[in-house]
Amino acid sequence: MQSILKTAIENSKKITKNGKVATYIPELAKGDRDALGACIFDISGNIILEGDYQTKFTIQSVSKVVILICALIDNGKDVVFSKVGKEPSADPFNSLVKLEMKETHKPSNPFINAGAIVCTSLVEGDNGIEKFSKIHNMMKKLANNNDIEVNYSVYNSEKLTGNTNRAIAYYLKGAGIIEKDVEDVLDAYFKCCSVEVVVEDIARMASVIANNGVAPWSNDRIIPEYINKIVKAIMMTCGLYDRSGEFCIEVGVPAKSGVGGCIMAVVPNRMGIAVVGPALDKYGNSIAGTKVLEELSKELNLSIF
Ligand code: GLN
Repeated sequence: MQSILKTAIENSKKITKNGKVATYIPELAKGDRDALGACIFDISGNIILEGDYQTKFTIQSVSKVVILICALIDNGKDVVFSKVGKEPSADPFNSLVKLEMKETHKPSNPFINAGAIVCTSLVEGDNGIEKFSKIHNMMKKLANNNDIEVNYSVYNSEKLTGNTNRAIAYYLKGAGIIEKDVEDVLDAYFKCCSVEVVVEDIARMASVIANNGVAPWSNDRIIPEYINKIVKAIMMTCGLYDRSGEFCIEVGVPAKSGVGGCIMAVVPNRMGIAVVGPALDKYGNSIAGTKVLEELSKELNLSIF
């Protein structure tokens, strides 16, 4: 498997030049366009690292998986899905357009920004600090790493320039979908996006989901099984924004991307995979990371279909 991963990375590195590092905040523009690394963590606890696996990156939208897990644990599925939909949006991740068009004003799903901001508002906690701390603790548990922390330069940049997210959140407050203080909710959301990790952290998180919510390294249940199923289903249908359909065909496993260049992939009952490559395609997904996963899927027969 090590040599398959190595070859997939070597082949995919050639296309990093066709992508662009996220520039919506100055801090992310500093990402290394040509970096490409990966980690596979299987449910027996074996780990494989390849390429630029030491590259640090901010988790960005991959945090939406953890936010959804926390919102579901704290509220149950009926409350969560009374405020956010379960359907793919076919719109870009930060789109506002459907919110006003729908009678309910509900965001289409938990993995577009609007949906993740609503899920953040549902996580228990009287203020942004408490909400973030719950989500942060869950990230640490899922990664089996107590040292993962917020990158404060990225967080400050997100907070200073997050005007579209602010517009989304205030709209949702006006529509009655967000009940909590908007700035508190946004503060927690921006911190979640700014948590700095390496691929091993994300592969471990994915391995817990692949192992039906149980940590492979301790056999402790971290995610209730029914929630784990929901999370895999939403990852499958909505994880790569308006490229989720093609990803389903070419890779065929539940996954979630982030503009920091990471893609988390869950191969049910087999392994968690994380790739990082900051050069993004026009949908905001790692261009070379997607190719690595396509190659791995073919070589290792990963598709669930
Ligand atoms: N911080 C980013 C935002 O909210 C996360 C988006 C993403 O990774 N797609 O715009």
